[in-house]
Amino acid sequence: MIFTLHLTADCNLRCRYCYEKHSRERMSEAAALAAVDLMFSFGHKKNGFSFFGGEPLLCRGLIERVLEYAAQKNPGGKLSYSMTTNGLLLDEEFMELADRCRLSIALSHDGSLQDDQRVFPDGSPTAALLEEKIDILLAHQPNAAAMLTVMPENVDRLAEAVEWLYERGFSKINTTIDYRPGAEWDDALMEELDRQYGLMAELCAKHYDEARPLDHMGFTSKIRSYIEDRPCVECRLGVRQPSIAPDGRIYPCNQFLNDEAFVMGDVWRGIDAAAQRRIIAASLAEEPSCRGCAIEKRCRHHCACLNYSMTGDMHTVPPVQCAHEKSIVRNADKLAEELYRRGSPRFLKAYSD
Ligand code: SF4
Ligand code: SF4
Ligand code: SF4
Repeated sequence: MIFTLHLTADCNLRCRYCYEKHSRERMSEAAALAAVDLMFSFGHKKNGFSFFGGEPLLCRGLIERVLEYAAQKNPGGKLSYSMTTNGLLLDEEFMELADRCRLSIALSHDGSLQDDQRVFPDGSPTAALLEEKIDILLAHQPNAAAMLTVMPENVDRLAEAVEWLYERGFSKINTTIDYRPGAEWDDALMEELDRQYGLMAELCAKHYDEARPLDHMGFTSKIRSYIEDRPCVECRLGVRQPSIAPDGRIYPCNQFLNDEAFVMGDVWRGIDAAAQRRIIAASLAEEPSCRGCAIEKRCRHHCACLNYSMTGDMHTVPPVQCAHEKSIVRNADKLAEELYRRGSPRFLKAYSD
């Protein structure tokens, strides 16, 4: 099991697409350490923690304390840690700790769109300040992922932004779109998104067999899902990766945080089995609009978080998500066909068994 620890909703940035409420609330040390105790009380072989925000590095001391305490509780045990950060507070010292504790770090960065979308509270730019941070991150974790979000008004620059990140040294890149309910994705913008995914697929094909390949995590998961004939994401809402709020209450996943109807216990009393069962049962229903869809298995239509945050119902898929998934699957397939046609050694090796 993995716990997502929502250390704070606070952040030193104000990205234009951010949905955080930016409250100053922080998780207490008592709550964080109780979450560690609770995790080990289940007796699972594989355990992990994902440090989440706002900006998790605003709570750097608490991260260090959790890493230290978990190592004491479980000496030599298998633990995985991950964190996505905006990077501004990264430094050598933290990266050395990350290496020692096997904390894998992903950087939220929008490539050439960074200064248009990811800014300080006064609107000032961030890209120049992040240059040194990128060097530090990639020196320690050359395979660190870059996570890019595109807003509707910038969608015509998406492929260019991905290329920027690749040229800057990132090999693993994930892209997502601005999924806030107010983001206005009309048909023309979705068509442009489809064109941009086509350009990204060409970019991935171009760099696929190089010493430092470009891996678009979205395309890779769709290709793998088809070849291995399994769902691209196994959700298991409320079981796989519960979220712990700063006040120690437990929720099934990120977007349910602070919604009373979805509380399933807290770090002191543990998981309320009845509440968890109710959430699991509710999550297992089908999305009625997806019945019979040819790409159902490869689509993220079952992401209760996304559906719930955009439509208020965990089984109603927003039209933008349906169009998005069709586009990414179509372009992932074009990429796979091209790699197969040209006999890409890396592609054939990855999927030959
Ligand atoms: S870094 Fe994340 S939490 Fe901070 S403003 Fe940007 S999107 Fe919001
Ligand atoms: S592509 Fe659309 S209809 Fe098909 S499974 Fe996904 S959301 Fe449902
Ligand atoms: S609800 Fe969505 S984000 Fe949460 S575990 Fe399921 S697929 Fe992942």
